[in-house]
Amino acid sequence: MLQPVPPRWLEVWVDHPHLGGCFTYRVPEGSAPEAGDLLSVPFGQQMAGAVALGWRSELPAGVDPQSVREIEAVVAKGILPKEFWPLLQRVADYYLTPLAQVVRTVLPPGLLSRSQRRVRLLRLPAEGEECSPAAQTLLQLLQAKGGELSWRYVQQQVPTAALALRELQRRGWVESFWQEQQGGRVKTQLAASLADDSPEGLSLPQQKALQILKQKGGELLLAEWERLAGVSRAVLQGLARKGRVHLYERPLLRLGDASLPGWRDPPRPLTAAQAQAVEAIRQALGRFQRFLLHGVTGSGKTEVYLQVIAQVLQQGRSALVLVPEIGLTPQLMDRFRARLGSQVWAYHSGLSEGERYDTWRQMLSSTPQVVIGTRSAVFAPLSKLGLIVLDEEHDDSFKQDQPQPCYHARQVAEWRAELAGCPLVLGSATPAVETYAAHLQDPQRWIRLALPQRIPQAGIPATLPQLELVDMRQELQAGNRSILSRRLHQALQRTLDRGEQAILFVPRRGHSTFVLCRSCGFVLTCEHCDVSLTFHLAHLGGQELRCHYCGARQPHPQRCPACGSPYLKHFGTGTQKVVEVLHQHWPQLSILRYDSDATRRKGSHRDLLEQFRSGKAQVLVGTQMLTKGLDIPQVTLVGVMAADGLLHQADYRAGERSFQLLTQVAGRSGRGSLPGQAIIQTYLPEHPILRAVLAQDYEGFLRAELQQRREGGYPPHRALILIRLSSTRLEALERYCHRVAERLQGIPAEVLGPGPAQVERVAGRYRWQILLKQLPDQDWDRPKLAAQIQAAIGHPPQGIRVSLDVDPLRIL
Ligand code: ADP
Ligand code: ZN
Ligand code: ZN
Repeated sequence: MLQPVPPRWLEVWVDHPHLGGCFTYRVPEGSAPEAGDLLSVPFGQQMAGAVALGWRSELPAGVDPQSVREIEAVVAKGILPKEFWPLLQRVADYYLTPLAQVVRTVLPPGLLSRSQRRVRLLRLPAEGEECSPAAQTLLQLLQAKGGELSWRYVQQQVPTAALALRELQRRGWVESFWQEQQGGRVKTQLAASLADDSPEGLSLPQQKALQILKQKGGELLLAEWERLAGVSRAVLQGLARKGRVHLYERPLLRLGDASLPGWRDPPRPLTAAQAQAVEAIRQALGRFQRFLLHGVTGSGKTEVYLQVIAQVLQQGRSALVLVPEIGLTPQLMDRFRARLGSQVWAYHSGLSEGERYDTWRQMLSSTPQVVIGTRSAVFAPLSKLGLIVLDEEHDDSFKQDQPQPCYHARQVAEWRAELAGCPLVLGSATPAVETYAAHLQDPQRWIRLALPQRIPQAGIPATLPQLELVDMRQELQAGNRSILSRRLHQALQRTLDRGEQAILFVPRRGHSTFVLCRSCGFVLTCEHCDVSLTFHLAHLGGQELRCHYCGARQPHPQRCPACGSPYLKHFGTGTQKVVEVLHQHWPQLSILRYDSDATRRKGSHRDLLEQFRSGKAQVLVGTQMLTKGLDIPQVTLVGVMAADGLLHQADYRAGERSFQLLTQVAGRSGRGSLPGQAIIQTYLPEHPILRAVLAQDYEGFLRAELQQRREGGYPPHRALILIRLSSTRLEALERYCHRVAERLQGIPAEVLGPGPAQVERVAGRYRWQILLKQLPDQDWDRPKLAAQIQAAIGHPPQGIRVSLDVDPLRIL
């Protein structure tokens, strides 16, 4: 008896600007696609590029097997690494997002449209070998046109081209392959290589130029050589004419700035603590293990990464290094390249589409390499992954706010390391509460490696900066109304006198977020919740205070409810204001501003930092971005303009964020051989978070924080899901929000809201939200919950957008 062959269904992601998504296709006999292969499939009236996601044993319910179309061909193997499919599926499940949307997030834009399918003749049929007429036609066409053609052309010329091709491929006479589209895509740059270094008959500048080329290893891009030698191009061309060098076109991959820095960075002899950390991670290479590298700023964490990665590369594997901001990558790139050579690539959303595409292709090669990138690089398609590092793992930018999937790169990295069977190293001076709590809960599962001390610089034992709080209430009492305290003014003056550098940190928010009494330090808080009220300019121009947890509103008071003082201050001094004030005191002072306005242009991060590093300015005034890995030896003073702007954000994570930011920013001071100082201005010096920062007491901070989280039912004790809803029509939105919230009653969570988001209207859209609280952190039935949430959302009325944020970091 003949067994019927079971149908073979393949889940496929189809690339199409409007109609693309996940579809099921049938796989023809003899074809064996694997997850991650690039396919061509019939889609509507056309053929489309697609990616195989995985097999399915059954068709989705209600799909007629007769209506399922067949994939046409496998055009390239492995455009995604094998472990990707389960990873993407996991992201989709956990973050309650359709798989198609996850795939779209992960693939670089235009990946498929940039490639072109071609067919190539391998051999002609021998005497007596027969094939179908269509196949015959195709063979003749290929033969006549030089053996290789684009598939599009073949389809125009041969009526049943797909069938013919399959037949010919089966016989091994023709192959089909995928190629990047031609047409000005391959850029080249003129380069020189040394042929003969004898100095006879050369002018002095020519001799000098030749010497430099030799020093640089005999090969340089012409532009770079010109710059290094300080001579004109004519001088160099003269050398080519005299046969001393060859000039040639070197193809240029658009991989960002791929040049090697001009310095080499040899491995350092490790301190005892570093050696222990390196050894522990090395022991774990080749299997999944979680590490928390807990080291104060300047304790040599990066050196630990570098030495472990060197070993990973030696073992023929690749490493992925995730960092919070693009601003960090150039500095780090230089250091990594100076140590590890040219197999170090950057991958982040700041690259152009073309650069991302090229880097993606490059990462697919099996060459051992290092990829440094931001959040989205957690999906870098490295195939032989040997290590994942998340530096500054506590940083919020690892979480995607929108669009869905609202993934956290730390979470995805953990899954990925597990799937790849490699260690995961999270590095931080101020670990996220979640991470540290996980370590406390199971120290074997999360191994903590500690680097408790700074590395001595130039033989001088390095110490953490001296920290000091300045009570701004006393400034006011003493008649100083400036945003600059007398203490900070004095310290700044001394720093300038000594020719050292200072950084002034301004908590980011441009607008006032909370209201504080300048006379007594009282902060206006909600009577129902334990959070500060938020100042709003309502859209009709009125001023009001709102609670973002329960939605309560009240008009803005004229006087402080605690002491009656009229000096209520709305917090939020901008960087521009600070620069202005500095110029009033020191008209000649050179100041650089470092915030998202000033660094929007590509590459400007690097320029700004370079300018500051080289001493072009004495003071750097900036926001959050300053806290990230900035390592400038001349900086001996860090000033925090108003810590209160951080402390009183209406958010359950305000305390954690403040502790981390203030500790990090203070850590920018005294990184070199000069002792550092940090001055934090505040209206509430007795605040426990500030006390913990001052005492540099992470554990103390953490214990208090975990206690509060447990009492409030917040992560890591309990999980949260935030449902964001928006529309241009407020009434319809409000009505719908209430309906959704009602339908959510009965799910195993506390339903908070609906209520407006902190900034209720953005670009003409009203934004509301519903918070699901007290979700059990582990073991909850996600598919069931997802179904319940889906049911509550139903089909939103026209014009209303809904998105789900699982584990939101901000619930405003
Ligand atoms: P982190 O990443 O923890 O902030 P880094 O790795 O950047 O610390 O190290 C801080 C400084 O100390 C850097 O200038 C680095 O080159 C230097 N350094 C790190 N480890 C050593 C070592 N073992 N010996 C000498 N210098 C070191
Ligand atoms: Zn409230
Ligand atoms: Zn008061």
